[in-house]
Amino acid sequence: MTARIIDGTAIGKAIREELKAEVAALRSRGVVPGLTVVLVGDDPASHVYVRMKGKAADELGMKSETVRLPADTPEVDLLALLDKLNADRAVHGILVQLPLPGHMDSSKVLLRMKPEKDVDGFHPVNVGKLVIGDPSGFRPCTPAGVQELLVRSGADPSGKHVVVVGRSLIVGRPVANILMQKAPGANATVTVAHTGTRDLAGITRQGEILVVAAGRPEVVTGDMIRPGAVVIDVGVNRVADAAAKNGHRLVGDVNFRQAVEVASMITPVPGGVGPLTIALLMRNTVQAARQAS
Ligand code: NAP
Repeated sequence: MTARIIDGTAIGKAIREELKAEVAALRSRGVVPGLTVVLVGDDPASHVYVRMKGKAADELGMKSETVRLPADTPEVDLLALLDKLNADRAVHGILVQLPLPGHMDSSKVLLRMKPEKDVDGFHPVNVGKLVIGDPSGFRPCTPAGVQELLVRSGADPSGKHVVVVGRSLIVGRPVANILMQKAPGANATVTVAHTGTRDLAGITRQGEILVVAAGRPEVVTGDMIRPGAVVIDVGVNRVADAAAKNGHRLVGDVNFRQAVEVASMITPVPGGVGPLTIALLMRNTVQAARQAS
């Protein structure tokens, strides 16, 4: 079997197209959805992500601003900036790009943000709303993107056994929480595997849908996948490759070459989950603007 490739770029674009009408409707009422991204330090990957987020917002007719702070900015200055953004009525969504420099406490920074503006969905209020199924909360963008990829590819998780590898607060745990909800596009039986899991391959082989967010390059091999499963590879890992022009290439947490022979559908890396993260950030910002107006 050769798996069908799930085109995350096309699905992300479709979601952004759908948002255009809602942005236009908000603008006609004098509300311009506003997103402010705060970037501390000079991590090159973060700069790329932030540029992409700003571009996506601009294309939708939203107002986007990026505040760049030097790596040695005192934490108290970042907290003061968040207070200012919390009070600014033109700013509907705030995103502090992670990781933060080592001298900053990211949970303290996160808590300082108004939950109504936390479009990344990591504030404890939004985590709680996700768990209890309150739609006024913001769902973290990458996990919500995993659900969109499944539903829009015709792999509705309802009634299926989903195995999630990884239990991070950023990906694994919210993916499990989203897919186990009693709601359309969810309603799955979810197993979460992690480094404490005995017989990982025995568990992953049970998944009709396998979502991998382990942060370990190609840790899931073809023999760990149930034949015909739908595989969503969240991983993004840079590995050395002497043959590549820049000396490296991106791989997922799944061995794509092997998995594509076993799965029925699979996301590529790049071009799978990544584009959904940005599309869902835009959707959360539009939701924030709608709820604030
Ligand atoms: P993380 O914080 O490092 O968490 C990894 C999780 O996987 C942990 O729960 C860990 O278990 C588990 N794990 C690690 N190795 C394992 C193994 N050999 N067997 C079973 N479980 C294992 O990573 P993350 O933030 O969730 O990110 C996961 C991946 O997604 C990374 O590659 C990251 O770059 C990528 N990512 C992509 C996007 C995107 O937009 N596409 C967004 C976010 C993240 P323990 O809890 O037991 O340690």
